[in-house]
Amino acid sequence: MLIGLNARCLLAMSRVIEPFDKTKSEDLLFDAYEAARSDGYTFGPQTSNVPAMFVGEEDLVSGWFSGSSTAIELAEMWECAGCNNAHGNPCYTHG
Ligand SMILES: [Zn+2]
Repeated sequence: MLIGLNARCLLAMSRVIEPFDKTKSEDLLFDAYEAARSDGYTFGPQTSNVPAMFVGEEDLVSGWFSGSSTAIELAEMWECAGCNNAHGNPCYTHG
């Protein structure tokens, strides 16, 4: 599987349909961002490279890093003693 292909296709569809249906175009752009974010969440923590499919596309790169940083922060919280105390609230660092 090529990481980022789905997000890149959604972005392309967004651009193709933009002159005809602005609302649908915006929906597809949002879907593309969320697909990039999902890829970042799943694959981002294991690599420092942005997928080739996202190069030059700031929205997709932004989604990628958003998902990646969320995954990294959740993994940290899972291991953090301050987040796993009797109170159930995140520590100052992760809250
Ligand atoms: Zn913490």
